[in-house]
Amino acid sequence: MRLERDALIAVFEQLLAHFGPLHWWPGDGRFEIMVGAVLTQNTAWTNVEKAIASLRAADVMELAAMRATAPDALAEMIRPAGYFNVKQRRLRNLLDWLHAQGGHDALLDWPTPRLRDGLLSVNGVGRETADDIVLYAYDRPVFVIDAYTRRLFSRFGWIGGDEDYDQLRLGIEAALGHDVALFNEYHAQIVYLGKDYCRTRPRCGACPLAGLCPFPDIGG
Ligand code: SF4
Repeated sequence: MRLERDALIAVFEQLLAHFGPLHWWPGDGRFEIMVGAVLTQNTAWTNVEKAIASLRAADVMELAAMRATAPDALAEMIRPAGYFNVKQRRLRNLLDWLHAQGGHDALLDWPTPRLRDGLLSVNGVGRETADDIVLYAYDRPVFVIDAYTRRLFSRFGWIGGDEDYDQLRLGIEAALGHDVALFNEYHAQIVYLGKDYCRTRPRCGACPLAGLCPFPDIGG
């Protein structure tokens, strides 16, 4: 694994110049970001938006109201996000955990490791989901690792791609320093690149990182 700040920043700046600031996370407030982080597991954000719209329309985008919603009704509201029965259970686990802690605002004073470990104790909240929440809902300097990140950085030759999640996260955090605004924007930029260009079958010819990326020469 070879992660160097200058190279990481060069990629970031080129992405930012192309996509512009993305102002993530696309959610209205801390609670909605947390809900969105669960709903976005294994699905496109456009599907999550429909589920969120449905939750808002039913007036349950709030901890107590959502907890009071019957499981079948909640599952039906989030159906557009896919795997809706599984996600309903995961969401409920998160809601129950939040309630037990005294609500999402009670976590504001928690140190980052405690916050992260607490979220990871919730059945159905994995490391990517927990870090989405820690970074975007609580403004903590944690770099989110997803499949797009692994693919991009392995195509640059910086990582093998199958490193342990936390090994990769800590490596990137050590290289970049603990910068919430940078981590926030960098992950968003990677998602945009991964959706439209650096796909399983990459679109290198049109890619904003063409010129920086060695992949088209060595692997594309
Ligand atoms: S040039 Fe190709 S491999 Fe490199 S980042 Fe762009 S799409 Fe991915």
